[in-house]
Amino acid sequence: MFDQLKPQPADALLSLIKLYNADPRDSKIDLGVGVYRDETGGTPVFAAVKSAERRLIETQDSKAYLGPEGDVGFVAAVCDLALDGAVADDRVAGLQTPGGTGALRLAIELVVRNLPEATFWVGTPTWPVHMSILTGLGARVRTYEHFDVQRQAFNADAMLAAAREAGRGDIFLLHGCCHNPTGADLAPEHWREVAQILSANGAVPLIDLAYHGLGEGLGADAAGARHMIGALPEALIAYSCDKNFGVYRERTGAVFAIAADCAAAEVAGSNLATIARNNWSMPPDHGAAVARLILTDAELRVQWQDELQGMQARLSRIRQRLAACGKAGDVDLSHIAAQRGMFATLPLSPAAIAALRERHGVYMAGSGRINIAGLAERDCDRFAAALADVEG
Ligand code: PLP
Repeated sequence: MFDQLKPQPADALLSLIKLYNADPRDSKIDLGVGVYRDETGGTPVFAAVKSAERRLIETQDSKAYLGPEGDVGFVAAVCDLALDGAVADDRVAGLQTPGGTGALRLAIELVVRNLPEATFWVGTPTWPVHMSILTGLGARVRTYEHFDVQRQAFNADAMLAAAREAGRGDIFLLHGCCHNPTGADLAPEHWREVAQILSANGAVPLIDLAYHGLGEGLGADAAGARHMIGALPEALIAYSCDKNFGVYRERTGAVFAIAADCAAAEVAGSNLATIARNNWSMPPDHGAAVARLILTDAELRVQWQDELQGMQARLSRIRQRLAACGKAGDVDLSHIAAQRGMFATLPLSPAAIAALRERHGVYMAGSGRINIAGLAERDCDRFAAALADVEG
């Protein structure tokens, strides 16, 4: 049987890690994999997470099954964190999921199974897994340009034109904040305009909120999503706690279906639970239990918010430092200050990306995406000089 299968390409970023690990140069810089790193290059466990884990070990009295909806206390706490009362609780059906990826999978499968005619509108470039889940499920997809990499410019006109073209029941995918891979977020007026257009044509937003708190802060980062769900009868939200709690491998996330009324929310929830049951039965518990403890304990919550704010401040500092370098050869780094979150995508040719790796030990994805957190402050000037060398 297995000789019938075609080999699949290895994950490009994982191959990059291997190359990076094999590079003996002390000065090497890893801008590839999308995890947060501190000034020393580590991805430490949050102190708030460690405290919650200790508490969990002492107090957890059972590991019996919970059910496809997972930890309902976690779901309620994340709902408050993300939506902050922007919509009545009884219009929201929420489920814990294995990470933001699981949340996206459930949201997309819910639509594809029940409304196969719906078109998903996706701005490009986007996180590649969006596309692979959509195409894997056979969804109808239309793309538009979210960001012009050469000009380093968000294409608001293309996004608004796509929103106008979307039909009733179509799904409009948006990154809630910290756009991956470009860092180019919608400004408040763009959220208002898209919400108005979708509300007029009956399309439904699917908001991927995977970096809540890493852009400008917990309030500002969710403001667009909150405005959107306040303005529309229906929406889907895929939420990841993996980055903002630093619990990547614990696979912690939630999906929310916001329905027009309480009865519709209940039906949406039952459909999501059935799909979850058929995919993974129920989500892994540990990360969600930890996040619930943190979010529902005043002291732990303050500690977590401080740590998250420290990450956000470091990302902003690196962005400022890079932007201050201005033009590095043909690449203008000044746009990086206005972008948000962990990523930027630079207009680099494959030859330049290879030269950065070979001549300077700078490792990045073939798309030109860089992980801002991969840079220590002291690396910024050296990185700009390396860019100038390969793109000069
Ligand atoms: N959405 C975006 C835009 C992401 O970048 C990621 C992770 O990289 C996810 C969702 C999924 O995150 P998780 O690791 O929680 O599945």
